[in-house]
Amino acid sequence: RDLEAIDRKEAEALAARLREVLNQHAYRYYVLDNPLIPDADYDLLMQALRKLEARFPELVTPDSPTQRVGGPPLGRFEKVRHPEPLLSLNNAFGEEDVRVWYERCCRMLAERLGQPVQPAVTAELKIDGLAMALTYENGVLTVGATRGDGIEGENVTQNVRTIPAIPLRIPVDPAVGPPPTRLEVRGEVYMRKRDFERLNEQLQARGERPFANPRNAAAGSVRQLNPQVTALRPLSFFAYGIGPVEGAEVPDSQYEVLQWLGRLGFPVNEHARRFEHLDDVLEYCRYWTEHRDELDYEIDGVVLKIDHRPWQALLGAISNAPRWAVAYKFPAREAITRLLDIMVSV
Ligand code: NAD
Repeated sequence: RDLEAIDRKEAEALAARLREVLNQHAYRYYVLDNPLIPDADYDLLMQALRKLEARFPELVTPDSPTQRVGGPPLGRFEKVRHPEPLLSLNNAFGEEDVRVWYERCCRMLAERLGQPVQPAVTAELKIDGLAMALTYENGVLTVGATRGDGIEGENVTQNVRTIPAIPLRIPVDPAVGPPPTRLEVRGEVYMRKRDFERLNEQLQARGERPFANPRNAAAGSVRQLNPQVTALRPLSFFAYGIGPVEGAEVPDSQYEVLQWLGRLGFPVNEHARRFEHLDDVLEYCRYWTEHRDELDYEIDGVVLKIDHRPWQALLGAISNAPRWAVAYKFPAREAITRLLDIMVSV
């Protein structure tokens, strides 16, 4: 059905149904780490709901999946309140969406700065894993928290401590100076493809249920009640940003923040680039659409961020996502199931 054509009454019923279906899938994905449908199908349902809500804004409810981040923290772990919310990212499906996003940023910045600007963009691979907020106090890892619903996450510190790529202590480097008194590092816990395959073979050999994909394997392993089990799982980590920082000079460029994190001892993905021109950003998106399979970890897109952090602050956020960043999603590889098929299969 053409979503542009349906009337208000039909839209209301369809939106309610989409919310129900999306909430069920979100629960399976975020809380149980056990999705029933491919991400591309989920995204399609989400796009349909967004379209309806855009046409009939009065249909937006506070519990709509379009307004929320992730899923509620699982009761098994202690809850952690994030000092600053961990947001989701708006998606760009295709180059036109990226252009629209960039032009809107330019327009808003021009308004707020009183002069036209052409902001540089940092482009990073979108690692398909689990978001993690790591708190360091005087250089020592004190809390590892999942994103949860963005406001509250799960305290998985014991599990995070078993991940070799995550520094337990920021090494004191005379060239860098003492570590910040307080630092929140944000990044993605993930599993390499070959580690995932080996893990699944082991699970199957023991008669246990294999994981659907590396992302679920990473999330399921981090959200294990027994840290000894997590310790046996081959998990990795990439840092991609920061939350609140005290007692340190933080660079005012996202690209330089990545380098700063690298100097502090965090693993940072080597493929991040900063571009002055949108055409080069789009070329980067195209390149990784073609070459993603050459990586030994899964990526589900490219994250584009306005590089200058003071301008990020000027752009701010909408309910559940920053305006200064966007996730360019790769086109789905599998034939996309029709909207109704997906809904019927629930
Ligand atoms: P998202 O995962 O698409 O984007 C936000 C996340 O990107 C951040 O939390 C962060 O963890 C991650 N990220 C990776 N690399 C990053 C980088 N370099 N910089 C910044 N962030 C980076 O957003 P979301 O709202 O959590 O989830 C939506 C995703 O979950 C979609 O892909 C959707 O298909 C999938 N999903 C699937 C199902 C299902 O049933 N299959 C259900 C719910 C959600």
